[in-house]
Amino acid sequence: VSDGDSELDLHAADITFHKPQRPDLVVYPSSTDEVSRVMAIASERRVPVTPFGAGSSLEGHVIPTSGGISLDLSRLDRIVEIALDDLSATVQAGVTRLALERAAGEHGLFFPVDPGADATLGGMAATNAAGTTTIRYGKMRANVLGLEAVLADGSIVRTGGRARKSSAGYDLTSLLVGSEGTLAVITEVRVRLYGIPEHVVAQRISFPTLEAACRTAAAVVAAGSAVSRLELLDAWTLAAINAYRGTDYHEGPCLLVEAAGTEATVEADLELVRELAEADGATEIVDERDPTARARLWAARHDATYAAAAASPGRSERATDTCVPVSELAGAVAFARAELERLGLDGAILGHAGDGNVHVSLQLDPDDPAELALADEFVQRLIADALARGGTCTGEHGIGLGKIAALELEHGDLVPLMRGIKDVFDPLGIMNPGKVFTPREER
Ligand SMILES: Cc1cc2nc3c(=O)[nH]c(=O)nc-3n(C[C@H](O)[C@H](O)[C@H](O)COP(=O)(O)OP(=O)(O)OC[C@H]3O[C@@H](n4cnc5c(N)ncnc54)[C@H](O)[C@@H]3O)c2cc1C
Repeated sequence: VSDGDSELDLHAADITFHKPQRPDLVVYPSSTDEVSRVMAIASERRVPVTPFGAGSSLEGHVIPTSGGISLDLSRLDRIVEIALDDLSATVQAGVTRLALERAAGEHGLFFPVDPGADATLGGMAATNAAGTTTIRYGKMRANVLGLEAVLADGSIVRTGGRARKSSAGYDLTSLLVGSEGTLAVITEVRVRLYGIPEHVVAQRISFPTLEAACRTAAAVVAAGSAVSRLELLDAWTLAAINAYRGTDYHEGPCLLVEAAGTEATVEADLELVRELAEADGATEIVDERDPTARARLWAARHDATYAAAAASPGRSERATDTCVPVSELAGAVAFARAELERLGLDGAILGHAGDGNVHVSLQLDPDDPAELALADEFVQRLIADALARGGTCTGEHGIGLGKIAALELEHGDLVPLMRGIKDVFDPLGIMNPGKVFTPREER
């Protein structure tokens, strides 16, 4: 337990423009039982509790806006089991995705969900995270088989099981996945693992415009291709990556593609992508066949956010995260570019193109109210556009503090049902208050 200044500051903020606010105390439990005891005491004394994984979420999720306890799960870092015959792993909530990757890799297996940060599995479950391989393997919800969780009153529950599927009652595993620390503290996660494919090739494809890249991405998806990654980057992001990592990738709009499987399926997948890209005017297609070059490429992609931050010293990021049907991707990206220009804002456009997931990374002066207001207008316009296209206000980052109004806009009719669920799990309102919904007293 700590109330030292640096510990409080570390748990007061994320890496974005959201205003920091300290907890009163940081608590580092080392076991599920300790989590249970903390929650029982917090419940008895009505102390707010904000679970904290790696603190890499991007919408103010971990900022303890009502003070209280920041419950840091990083000491729950044990890989409990790798079940080779069942292709699953059970890990404590504080295990990070790279730690799981190393452990599973020793057995020729991997866990596919890969947000850019080295997030914890508990945090990834709590935000229903996605990554570059979602186009093939799905998000966290598709990959979590079961959970152990501690409820607000300290009781310990287990959802799901070892079986690969179940129809036993309401699916509380899926409900807790994506609940952003507002319903329960996740202490253990059981996930699916997959065999590392025998043959993998990545491809870098440059285009004259971002919209052409988007059209190709949509065509690849519509063709039913089994590519395992399909990512969009703009020239600004590639320049930032080159400067940050010392690479020399072409600095223009591009798609990064990966195909994985047998040699024959990989070559067929890549040939299809090549044909579709050429039809959209691709200017350069480079295959990355060497495993080191491929690993460098994906490490560079994962570092895009950090590269953007390094290119913008003294500024804070506001990351947007709308998601549209892939057929609408080119239109959504064109709209984002036009709005950036109209408002005079600098922003990098990138995304998980195969999922229709658009990110615009704005680098802002957090002390300039006029710039913050323009960024706010931009994000609202982007959300309205995504909804008009049949999309959503967030494809993967979640609601946190930053998208509360957007959730009302998208699902206003469902918010009362969601609040009802929250009340069942957390009748005293101590679980990460002020996230997903406005707090009860402010309604
Ligand atoms: C460089 C970079 C790239 C990123 N790329 C992606 C991406 O591609 N896809 C994507 O989806 N996200 C991405 N993110 C966002 C972030 O990594 C994810 O949201 C991640 O899942 C957060 O995990 P965490 O361990 O950092 O959780 P935290 O940020 O610590 O917490 C996130 C939320 O979950 C709750 N929480 C944390 N642990 C628990 C627990 N054990 N039980 C209950 N609630 C808990 C917290 O209270 C909070 O509400 C990126 C972030 C960065 C910095």
